Amino acid sequence: MKRKDFIKLAAMAPVSYFLELPSFLENFSNQEDVMYFRKGTEAYEKSRKGFNKRIDKYPSIIANCRTEKGVVDAVLRAQKEGLPVAVKSGGHCMEGFSSNQGGMVVNLSELNSVEWLDEHTIQVGPACTLSKLYDELLPKGVIVPGGSCAGVAVGGLALGGGYGLLSRSLGLTCDSMKGLRMVNGKGQVIDTDSDPDLLKACKGGNSGNFGIVTSIRFNVHRAPTHMQSFKFRSFSVSTTRAFSLFQQWFEKSALLPNHCFSAFVLNRKTAYILLVNTGKLTEEVNSFIASFKSISDKYTQSVRQPLSQALKNYYGRREPLYFKNASAGLYNDFKDIEDRLKSVIDKVGKTTGMIFQVNTLGGKVRDAAYEKASVFPYRKHSFFSELQVYWDRPSQEESGLKSFQEVQMMINPKGDMPQYRNYPDIRFKNAPQVYYGGSYPFLQKMKSRHDPGNIFRYEQSIVA
Ligand SMILES: Cc1cc2nc3c(=O)[nH]c(=O)nc-3n(C[C@H](O)[C@H](O)[C@H](O)COP(=O)(O)OP(=O)(O)OC[C@H]3O[C@@H](n4cnc5c(N)ncnc54)[C@H](O)[C@@H]3O)c2cc1C
Repeated sequence: MKRKDFIKLAAMAPVSYFLELPSFLENFSNQEDVMYFRKGTEAYEKSRKGFNKRIDKYPSIIANCRTEKGVVDAVLRAQKEGLPVAVKSGGHCMEGFSSNQGGMVVNLSELNSVEWLDEHTIQVGPACTLSKLYDELLPKGVIVPGGSCAGVAVGGLALGGGYGLLSRSLGLTCDSMKGLRMVNGKGQVIDTDSDPDLLKACKGGNSGNFGIVTSIRFNVHRAPTHMQSFKFRSFSVSTTRAFSLFQQWFEKSALLPNHCFSAFVLNRKTAYILLVNTGKLTEEVNSFIASFKSISDKYTQSVRQPLSQALKNYYGRREPLYFKNASAGLYNDFKDIEDRLKSVIDKVGKTTGMIFQVNTLGGKVRDAAYEKASVFPYRKHSFFSELQVYWDRPSQEESGLKSFQEVQMMINPKGDMPQYRNYPDIRFKNAPQVYYGGSYPFLQKMKSRHDPGNIFRYEQSIVA
């Protein structure tokens, strides 16, 4: 068959589940719905890469899906060829679970539309980035609470939970999900309107575990109009000083109203406290500001900016980086980290490119109705912490990772701390249990119902 004849044939049959293709024609199959790429093509290389330059995997085939039909086609093909499937929306997974070695990657980057269903509901393609989402919503005065970084996609973010600057006032990203469509491991398309259990499981539990989500319907919230940031920096901090700052921050941030977010960022020997406020300067907020102003080396505050402008200050870098970043535990309070903190501060202070950060949760994340409707298991925890290390050249990787692992061992020596799935680490013992806690048995049921053949599998995927 000549190439032009094949293209004619493909146009007549938008999806060709059972068509055997000669390998030279593979890149031209079902172009409206899906294109398959193998190693050696430019398109393969482009689709293969993710945000983290440390991760370098080579799938056997990449299915660039343009429609839901194309996703079905890819799943059936993977089944037929016995390939494990990794699902990729924005490619920001910190351990590269959206790619694999020798299997199939279903790349959804073209499923990134935003569509209004009514004045309170939007339908979003999983690969829609946060910057695209905010650009669509904020001019209309509404928002779906998401993360900070512009290039993170809604798919990966929401399906693993999704927290950010507005979580304490509006909940996690997954809490705003009203419904979605998913292609399961049998190649069936399911709308959660007819399967409420599936919706619950996807609110924090479906990071490429039992199906490919092709669109998500979100409830939008009225957005705060303005945001103001307050920054407190202390330089060349001794271990004793950093420890004391941490302790005070844990105590004072727990008293902040829900319209505030705060983070403590220890970047080598610089202690940086961020406070973000989208509401009134209440007594608690003023007291927080006064306390840290008096004990920090440098204090700055931004003007009150319109939200659409203010969020851009936290968009971060768009181009891929070399780094390792992972959850470093969810805490109830200072006591959960107190006995290990001095050694952590010491080591972070000596390691180039290392950051230990603690962020506030709480507020609306604790909402009982949200808790009941989702599988996100750690809503009672008031703090989420993360460890990061960055480097510029591959030759620096080994020492960066070694220090990273040493700090991880200090923080979590028994390996039993709860961890946030969106910040995974390949070395976590007992994953996926540490990600899903008490929700794990329910998710195992979902796995056996929707992916009995375990087509969606990676190092830490759910096992039925
Ligand atoms: C720079 C940076 C900033 C971040 N900031 C935040 C933040 O502020 N708040 C926060 O909560 N998280 C944050 N994260 C973590 C982020 O939420 C996760 O990395 C998220 O999983 C990324 O989603 P993605 O679609 O971009 O990535 P991908 O790598 O494409 O996917 C991530 C995971 O979700 C699965 N997945 C993706 N799409 C689908 C789908 N359609 N159906 C089923 N499974 C799917 C993948 O298989 C993979 O396991 C950040 C990460 C980075 C790298």
